[in-house]
Amino acid sequence: MPPKIAFVSRIRWLMLAVALPGALSAADLQIEHVTIVSPERVSPMRDALVRVHDGRIVAISRADGATARSSRDTISMDGSGLFLAPGLIDSHVHLGQIPGMTPDQEAQHPDVAKAARDQIPRSYLLYGFTTLIDLISTPQEMALWKSHGIVPDTYFCGGAALMDGYAMNYAPKPQRYQWWTYMLIEPGTQAPDGIDPALHTPQAVVSRMKADGAICVKTFFERGFGGVRDLPVPKLETIREVVKAAHAAGMPVLMHANSDEAQRFGLDAGVDIMAHGLWNWYQEQSATSDVTPGIRKILDDEVAQNVGLQPTIQVLYGIRDLFSASFLSDPRLSRVLPSNLLEWYRSPEGQWFRVVVSQEMKLPADANPSQIERVFKQFAPAVDHVEHATAYLVARHGCILFATDTPSAPTYANPPGLNGWLEMHRLLDAGETPAQIFKSATLTNAQALKLDQDIGTVQVGKRANLLLLRQDPTQTIDAYAGIEKVILNGRVLDPSELAANAAR
Ligand SMILES: [Zn+2]
Repeated sequence: MPPKIAFVSRIRWLMLAVALPGALSAADLQIEHVTIVSPERVSPMRDALVRVHDGRIVAISRADGATARSSRDTISMDGSGLFLAPGLIDSHVHLGQIPGMTPDQEAQHPDVAKAARDQIPRSYLLYGFTTLIDLISTPQEMALWKSHGIVPDTYFCGGAALMDGYAMNYAPKPQRYQWWTYMLIEPGTQAPDGIDPALHTPQAVVSRMKADGAICVKTFFERGFGGVRDLPVPKLETIREVVKAAHAAGMPVLMHANSDEAQRFGLDAGVDIMAHGLWNWYQEQSATSDVTPGIRKILDDEVAQNVGLQPTIQVLYGIRDLFSASFLSDPRLSRVLPSNLLEWYRSPEGQWFRVVVSQEMKLPADANPSQIERVFKQFAPAVDHVEHATAYLVARHGCILFATDTPSAPTYANPPGLNGWLEMHRLLDAGETPAQIFKSATLTNAQALKLDQDIGTVQVGKRANLLLLRQDPTQTIDAYAGIEKVILNGRVLDPSELAANAAR
């Protein structure tokens, strides 16, 4: 590289460093003698040389035949004995709030909140998640999320909830009508004061999301659970209109749907992705947990229509973990959550959501382990159902997307990053292999969200969001528990600088 160009490019790097903290790649990178494991490959490519420039993969060749380049601007890494894989994608997260903290609590504890907001993005990276999709967000929330140092690449869907339906029912009136900027108002419904219903038709809502930079649309079919039942649900025609507008704008449509009724509705409306597994089989009574004829029809239709499914099984276990006496002492948590946040979770104030859930479940505040276990047994059928439905889809090559719904509620029991690794264990229990999990967390997710031009494989032209692993991820999910290096847009990150409570 002529000196003048090198100088100019260094100036450009400095400008980028000012403009895009966290999104910048430091230097050119070359990884030598590495084994590439990528979901589109039939077999790994051994002894490869991978070059990265400007945050993208620019060359892949055999290490022996290529001339290794080195200059002051190139970082060379020896990949001998290591595996190079695409970074993982979690296609269902919620990043707006600190897990387990209300906005009021965040305002009252600024030090705890700052430590949490700085750490949480790193915790996703620590477990290999270089891309996240927040399914209900806004440009303002995304800007806040991206302002905290090193952050995975993050995209968002707008949340097109039906007015006063799930999930906007949890917000107080009338603020909910301001917060849920993409809510749908159906014809014949009285709009709230000051809200123009013309801005809340399927077409208007989808256009606004698109203009705001959303890549997908999230819809909901949920009559309620816990202490909330009989919520209004959208009309089929409404969601069909949403799908039509979204597809015209090139955006996939996801639907919160975890029951047979909801997934049938989603299929009839033509949505692309069910944002949960088939947990609740309300219309099929069965003495066994084997897939019943009605459930089989739904799953077969999902396979035939190539609808993506996000099992999100760990969500159900996370409810139990909220009540576990030892959960917050799990040493793995201290790697993903700052110590002052963990301390706050243990305080009476930090236990608020546990109190809410125990009241909903009619548990005493000081429930003993056997009472908790008895209550959790209520979830056993849902766990059983989703495992059977997932296994059925695995056997028929259904489109399973890796997704965690982290956090699924204002709970501390879906810890960032770690929750993804826990979900992988649930998927193994349901019959997925490590290779299938690897593919669903990389290429399948990228395709479903229309990001596969940029991410999902180790190929020339793709963004250099990569993992350098000590074990082959198609053979074991333990590969993600001891990552050697995380590469984010060409920038090499060491796990020791990503873990919580580490001296930086
Ligand atoms: Zn969710």
